[in-house]
Amino acid sequence: MSSDTPQGCNRRNYQAVLLHHGQVSVVSRPFRGPNPGEVVLRVEAASLCSTDLKILKKGHRLINPEEAAVLGHEIVGRVHAVGENAGQITVGERVVVMPNVGCGTCELCRKGLENLCSDYRAFGIGLDGGLAEFMRVPSEAVSRGHLIAISDTIPTQLAVLAEPLSCCYRGLRVSRLKAAESLVVIGTGAMGLLTITLGKALGAAPIIAVGHGGRSGLAAQFGADLTLDALESGWQKAIWDVTHGTGADVVMVTASSSKAQHDAIALAAALGRVNFFAGLPDDDGLHDFPSNVLHYRQVSVLGTTGSTRSDIEEVIRLMETGRLATASNVVTHVMGLREFMSAVTAMDQRNGLKCMLSVD
Ligand SMILES: [Zn+2]
Ligand SMILES: [Zn+2]
Repeated sequence: MSSDTPQGCNRRNYQAVLLHHGQVSVVSRPFRGPNPGEVVLRVEAASLCSTDLKILKKGHRLINPEEAAVLGHEIVGRVHAVGENAGQITVGERVVVMPNVGCGTCELCRKGLENLCSDYRAFGIGLDGGLAEFMRVPSEAVSRGHLIAISDTIPTQLAVLAEPLSCCYRGLRVSRLKAAESLVVIGTGAMGLLTITLGKALGAAPIIAVGHGGRSGLAAQFGADLTLDALESGWQKAIWDVTHGTGADVVMVTASSSKAQHDAIALAAALGRVNFFAGLPDDDGLHDFPSNVLHYRQVSVLGTTGSTRSDIEEVIRLMETGRLATASNVVTHVMGLREFMSAVTAMDQRNGLKCMLSVD
């Protein structure tokens, strides 16, 4: 089944947030039905993350400033129209989007690690994203399973977080976090708080959050057993005390800070795993690498970026158990597409945690 006009509205245009020559505007675009193999989604909501802010400030190597681009890679929507031969997808199905579309042929893509493909594009980064009423999903993304079903019972403010949560889930999974292990999360922005909620759902204990000033208190609401202020001296000692002198089994560095990376290694227990989850600016890096900690305590330092289909599926499964319900509290602003620039300003000024643009 397919349809050529947007249902529920009698116009043949739809609204989209466009980035063109570095300028953002909300424009009306003509609606086109899907070509063979394609799917058109009616977007329910899309949330913003720091990557979107970075694109607005500095652009992105995969976005040609000469061409109008629709941002937005954290997306929940409903299948509006299905092109011929688009497989099993049905109109009306609610889905989240796996954003990174790899080349499909390299060794990493063949292993399902499209998050690591060097020749990728992503929805909102090279492919039109979800900051629009409708989003076209190209046939290669449809056939490779980039639309992942999610039940109607998951609230929009949680469903929209499937992608960021899946990145945090991957971070913990690759760090081999086990139940009853101690987890330290450095950084209490949206990704740090989502990592805490997931750590709790996976049975980590104790969970210790390290943040800056007022924000560190927030972490308790997301499941942290202890929250420490990195601006106060003695926070490292508090971690050794609460872990009875053994250190942390897993340390997730969600803050973009080489000092935080350095601190993280020092806090790791014997056999501990330290995940550099946040990238650093090009002009920053880790100096005086504390290599003896790795040697004498058999500590592993690793990094993760993005997520895979199985991470998103596992996050949806955890959402359905109800154990991730508090994650939706990272969505502190809900706005319409036309308020996109206010949402950007709110995030830029760190006024709240995460903005969701509700489209429906
Ligand atoms: Zn993101
Ligand atoms: Zn590839």
